[in-house]
Amino acid sequence: MAENETVQPKGSTVWKWFEKCPTNGRKAICKLCDRPQDRSGGSTTNMIKHLENVHKINPGCRKRPHSSPQKQKELRPPPTSESRNLDRLFTEWVCADFQAFQVCENEHFKRFIKALKPDYI
Ligand SMILES: [Zn+2]
Repeated sequence: MAENETVQPKGSTVWKWFEKCPTNGRKAICKLCDRPQDRSGGSTTNMIKHLENVHKINPGCRKRPHSSPQKQKELRPPPTSESRNLDRLFTEWVCADFQAFQVCENEHFKRFIKALKPDYI
């Protein structure tokens, strides 16, 4: 037997949960609970209500405002460039001041760098 696809209104996803009643064309059978739903006039409103109220299913047939597609993008500079810049500045400073090599081992200096950028060391 051929399926009655043409009878079903196109674009109505509610038919995923219903099938046409074989004995009464005005009714649709809920596949979940086998209860017939009146669909007189070809309206799927009763079927949608049945899904929502009885099975807590939203068939997505009702128009609802779309959620805003705009999502706030986190604007943060790539971490590599920042640390690379720090490396460059640090190297420049070390080259400019020979004493810096000894300062590198200084605990106070390490604390200073750590306070400046905790994840640098
Ligand atoms: Zn049902």
